[in-house]
Amino acid sequence: MPPVIDREKCTGCGECVNACPVEVLEVKDEKCEVVKPDECVDCRACEAVCTAGAISFPE
Ligand code: SF4
Ligand code: SF4
Repeated sequence: MPPVIDREKCTGCGECVNACPVEVLEVKDEKCEVVKPDECVDCRACEAVCTAGAISFPE
């Protein structure tokens, strides 16, 4: 399952984009967006680097 981004918390830092091995995420207008949800391999690297706590994986 791809991550869910809390746009209120996201600072647009881009760390998750850099961490993602398969380019699921992009920063647009200073907010992260899930642009290729089907590509997500569920590694959760994005969640690990997001110091703002904006990334979660609701079941
Ligand atoms: S790492 Fe977190 S705060 Fe930074 S762009 Fe990604 S979701 Fe937003
Ligand atoms: S869980 Fe892994 S593959 Fe999926 S968006 Fe995050 S970093 Fe990318």
